[in-house]
Amino acid sequence: LLAGSWEDRSDTIDVRDPYDNSIIDTVPSATVDDVEIALSAAAAAADTARKLTTYERAQILFRTAAIVDANLEGFARTIAREGSKTIREARKEASRCVNTLTVSGEEAKRLTGETIAVDSFPGGEQRRGHYDRVPIGVVLAITPFNDPLNVVAHKLGPAIAGGNAVILKPATVTPLSALKLTEALLEAGLPGDVLQTVTGHGSVLGDVLVADPRVRMVSFTGGVEAGERIMGKVGLKKVGMELGSNSPVIVWHDADLDWAVETCVSGAFWAAGQNCIGVQRIYIHRDVFEVFRDRFVKHTTAYRIGDKLDETTDMGPMITQSEAERVERWIQDARAKGATVLSGGGRDGALVQPTVLENVPADATLHSEEVFGPTVNLYPVDDLDEALEKANSINFGLHAAGFSRDLETAYRMAEGLDAGGVMINDSTDYRLDSMPFGGIKNSGLGREGIRFSLQEMTEPKVVCWYLPGV
Ligand code: NAP
Repeated sequence: LLAGSWEDRSDTIDVRDPYDNSIIDTVPSATVDDVEIALSAAAAAADTARKLTTYERAQILFRTAAIVDANLEGFARTIAREGSKTIREARKEASRCVNTLTVSGEEAKRLTGETIAVDSFPGGEQRRGHYDRVPIGVVLAITPFNDPLNVVAHKLGPAIAGGNAVILKPATVTPLSALKLTEALLEAGLPGDVLQTVTGHGSVLGDVLVADPRVRMVSFTGGVEAGERIMGKVGLKKVGMELGSNSPVIVWHDADLDWAVETCVSGAFWAAGQNCIGVQRIYIHRDVFEVFRDRFVKHTTAYRIGDKLDETTDMGPMITQSEAERVERWIQDARAKGATVLSGGGRDGALVQPTVLENVPADATLHSEEVFGPTVNLYPVDDLDEALEKANSINFGLHAAGFSRDLETAYRMAEGLDAGGVMINDSTDYRLDSMPFGGIKNSGLGREGIRFSLQEMTEPKVVCWYLPGV
């Protein structure tokens, strides 16, 4: 969608279902010339976006939410077909998208400034002051493959609520959900030139998009490598970086073990482990290590993997066969360094079995890097200081989690785990879309979560009045 019209290009990109590699659709492969059209159109439309009243912005977002809600199954099938999620996982993402858009509309109405006590310092006599929050202008949204609808909504919702024009560049492997959401926004009344949706390769379009001074904020969700490259190119503009992680969980001897197992299995294998807050390392008190491990393995081996559209499937394939081969190599590397595979470990095409390991050494990639695949490491620990130190030893910090029935132990976990969010008695995979969301260390910069994105995507504008007659 460029300058308000749907464009085709002779150069196209095949969108494939990773389960059977079949082609679902094709999308235009945008060029650097298309990027220039998008940038000029967005810059020109910033005024249109700014002039939409708060009521109009909110109504557009509420109507878009209603359109997604009315077509929930269609959105879910698109997510499930182009990506890795099972149909049940995809339905959850689609319904979260409805919430993200609805809350964006609500937050549009709560975007206010404050009065300023300009008379609080000598020289402020006969002066008054206040500030409003004004749109930043053009927001560039770059999104990953693993939540192809809701992460897009997390950027478009607040950007529109804040009165901005937006350029969206979705992941090349999963552009269809983003295009469907673009259609819904237009149907809901968003002026066509306020949003440009550009499908094409980040490696070709990325530098030109992020470096352009007409873009006032880059809101990026993706991996550390692309994030660092963008930081090096972006110049003088705002940046939001939602990057990866390697999430730790601590399970104490007094925890509800059945619940901890159930929720951590789901947290480890949701979306075939391609989840920025997926469980990757679990530190378990030695007194309950064997009980926890055996129940965890039993639960994991019961997982059904396969066809994503089958209602009974628990876990689908990874996004591509080459990503599955990478995870297989990392499992082999851990094994060669002394790890034991307790369950899974195999691969068939893009399908990697849900894999549980123990004795994974610190120099194994599976321990120290973000796996972004369906593997989880179990480690016994003897005391809480040791557990916290080991949990915090990796250079990521998006979500962390701790399980204990003892208030003081749980409190020490909440305080001692270094992360943007700590979940107590839940896996790291718990997220409410309206809570502040983002990471420390290599997990990113800034926070999303609608209200928080809206602050990032707007700027305070101060107005001071000197009124000698007042
Ligand atoms: P990715 O390879 O970093 O790609 C993310 C997006 O960046 C894609 O649209 C990609 O385009 C684009 N891109 C690639 N190189 C670029 C460049 N030089 N300039 C501008 N854009 C560029 O990540 P992914 O594999 O899609 O997603 C997985 C990662 O996202 C994981 O690390 C995961 O943890 C992270 N993630 C984080 C969150 C969060 O909220 N913190 C949420 C979800 C995922 P192409 O598709 O064309 O390459």
